[in-house]
Amino acid sequence: MKDNRKRGRAGMRERAAVLAEEPLCRLCLEKGLEVASDVVDHIMPLAWGGSDERHNKQALCTPCHDAKSKTERKLAQRRKIADFD
Ligand SMILES: [Zn+2]
Repeated sequence: MKDNRKRGRAGMRERAAVLAEEPLCRLCLEKGLEVASDVVDHIMPLAWGGSDERHNKQALCTPCHDAKSKTERKLAQRRKIADFD
C-alpha cells in the first residue's frame, strides 16, 4: 500500500503546528464540547488517496480519532468487497 505520510522531523513539526492551530477537537466542537485535541487526523485517509497537505488534516481528541478510524476500517472492508478484487 502506498503511504505518502511524511516521516521524521518534518512530520513532527507539522503535527505540532496543527495541534497549535486547533487546540480543541474539531468533532467535539461540532457537538458543542470543548475537548483538548491530541491527535492529528487525515480527514480523507492517506490509504484512500487523501493528501498529506494541511487542508486534509484536522486535530481530534483520542476517542474521536479512534471512533473515526473504526468507521473507516469498516467502510474500507466493505469497499474492498464492492469495488476491488
Ligand atoms: Zn473529540
